[in-house]
Order: sequence, then structure tokens, then C-alpha cells
Amino acid sequence: MQIDLTGSDVVDAHCHPFRSQDLLDREPRAFETRCMYLGTALISSNHANHDLAEFVEELTETTLFGLALRRWLAAHLGCEPTKDAVVAARDGALRADPPGYARDLLASERVVAVVADEGYPQPTIPREDFEAALGGVAVHRVGRIEPWIVAARGDGTFDGMVQRFEEAVNLAASDPQLIAFKTIIAYRTGLDITDPTSAAAAAAYERWREDDWRETREHAKPVRDFLLRRAFALAKTHDRVFHVHVGGGDPDVNLAHATPRDVFSFFVEQQDIPIVMIHSGYPWVAEATYVASVLPNVYLDLSELVPWGWGQIDWSLEMILGAVPGAKVLHGSDESSEPEMFPTSARLVREALERVLGTFIDRDFLSVADAETIGRGVLADNVRRLHGI
Ligand SMILES: [Zn+2]
Repeated sequence: MQIDLTGSDVVDAHCHPFRSQDLLDREPRAFETRCMYLGTALISSNHANHDLAEFVEELTETTLFGLALRRWLAAHLGCEPTKDAVVAARDGALRADPPGYARDLLASERVVAVVADEGYPQPTIPREDFEAALGGVAVHRVGRIEPWIVAARGDGTFDGMVQRFEEAVNLAASDPQLIAFKTIIAYRTGLDITDPTSAAAAAAYERWREDDWRETREHAKPVRDFLLRRAFALAKTHDRVFHVHVGGGDPDVNLAHATPRDVFSFFVEQQDIPIVMIHSGYPWVAEATYVASVLPNVYLDLSELVPWGWGQIDWSLEMILGAVPGAKVLHGSDESSEPEMFPTSARLVREALERVLGTFIDRDFLSVADAETIGRGVLADNVRRLHGI
């Protein structure tokens, strides 16, 4: 049987801010491709080959997400499901009223609030600007520690750098709108977090500076691991959740040290703070499922798997919800440039939840009421409860 979750609110647990002007400035014909994993990586990665941009756009024509996005958006805009018609209708609606266009997209799938990782893009887009670009949909802040490390390091002493970094963390925590901290150390020196003494971190800091701040495991890693531990300690005193990027990403990621397995021993140590594994370790979702089923305070955000794992959502949700308590699973889209990411991801997950939870009812694992509670939890209630939204 299939349950109906269309009445549920959606709160997106992981996305990135934009301004209305950003939407207007970009090439209208390539908006579908900017939603794809390939197109997103072309914008965010320092290792992208931009000579391949035309080929990447051609590939959208055979990407399941791209083809579904076009038809779903055509239905929303009331136009033919062809590239030309959708691009024209979308561009017209966007230019007529950018915040209204975004607000209607989010409303079409009941996306009532979003949690925005401010670390990308840089420089940081203020919460108020993103909220305005979404036509007033509530935006909650996640502060990323890596830009604060860049701002804190320099010519001075190690102790001075640590002090500036801690001031940045404390300043961020003074805003009640900031509901979590985030680290992308998986993109820098890896998730296998060590525990250097402050003398060892100070010596590494001198070497890191002499090495022109290159991201090596030899010089940068002891400093980054030391600061991450300081940030975790401060997050505990400020009663904030920690979001940790775990899994793949764009080609800048340190893929050799990005898995749930790499970060497991650190999470075992840090059981007295709620941790969200952003991206559920995708593509290592089975490993992340294990970690969240054995550590009470580790939560899973579904972004990256959603929407870019497109055909893997049903069986991944069956695996995750078959083992991890439903209250620890959060919907996220990883939107990082186009507002169409919000309704597409929300519909993808809602319909997959309806099918997967329906099969659990058929097997007599769940009552209809249990299934609806778990479904609404993944879509909105869990992220709200965890972050006190
Ligand atoms: Zn992201």
C-alpha cells in the first residue's frame, strides 16, 4: 500500500544561500545543468575542466534528474516539456518577480523553512539576503569553521590564531539564528581526526605557513584537527549541533579520507554532542547507516543522495529506515545555486518515502500511523526537533 505525505511540511536540512541577483546573472539556458551533480561541480570545484562545459550540458539530456526536472517544472509553469519552452517560461517567471518565483516553487512542495550552510559560496551571503531571495521563507544559519580558519591565520603566533578562531566561533554562537556549526575538513585534510598536543599543532602551524598554506597531511592536518576539536568543545558549551560533511563531493574532496569509516573513531569519542552526517556518507550510505544505528547522537542528512543519487533513493531509504531510528533521518537537497532544487528534491523524497514506508506496512513492520509519523519526521519534524526550530 502507499501512504500520502502530501500534507506534510518540508524543512530542508542542508542547502546554500543565493541572492535574487545571482539567479538573474546566470546563463538562462544552462539552469538545468547547474542543478545536475556535474553542473554543480563545474561551478564549485577548483579542479573542474571548463573546456568540458558544453559536453556537460549535453549530458543533462540523458541524466534522469535532468529529464524529470524538465517535465516536473513544465507542469509547474504550465508549458510544453521541451528545453526551449521550459527555459523561456522559467526565465519569464523568474525575471517578472525573482523572490515570488522562488517562493512559489518552494510552496508547490510545502517547503516552509531551510537550513543554510553559509560556508559556500564565499564571501558569505547574509541570512537576510537569502530569506529575501526566497520570498520570506524562513532561513536558519549554519556557520562553517573553515573560512574562520583562513581569516584567523596569518603572520602572528599560533596562540593568537587560535584566539581569533575561537572569537569567531563564539561570535557566531551569539546569534540565536545560528543553529549549528559545520566542518568540511573532508575537503581539506581528511576525516581521520587526530589529537595533537598544542605544542605539536603550534610547530605544524609554523611549517604550514612556510609551506604557503598548502593542504598537506604533514603540516596542515595537525592544525586543522586541533581547531576542529576546539570548535567541538565550544559547540558543546553553546549547546549547538555539529554538521560534518561525510562522503564524496565535488572533485576537490579528499576522497581517500572522506568515508564514515574514517570519521568513526572521532564520532565514538564525541558522543556528548548531536552530530549530523551531511550527505549520509554518500556514496558510502551503507557505512553511514551502520554508524547512525550504533551511535545514538549521530544523525543522517539525505542530501547528495537526494537528488543526485536519483535512482538509488528507494533502496537507500529502505536500508536507512530499516536500521536507523526514523527520528535521526533528515531531508536535505544540497541546493547551491538554483531554486528548482528545493521542490524537485522534496517531491523525490516524499514520493520515495510513500513507496518505501508503504512496503514496510505491507510487511506488517509498521502501522499506517507509524509510517506517517516517520515520513513526516524525515521531511520536517526531525530537523526542527534536533535544532530547536
Ligand atoms: Zn552542501
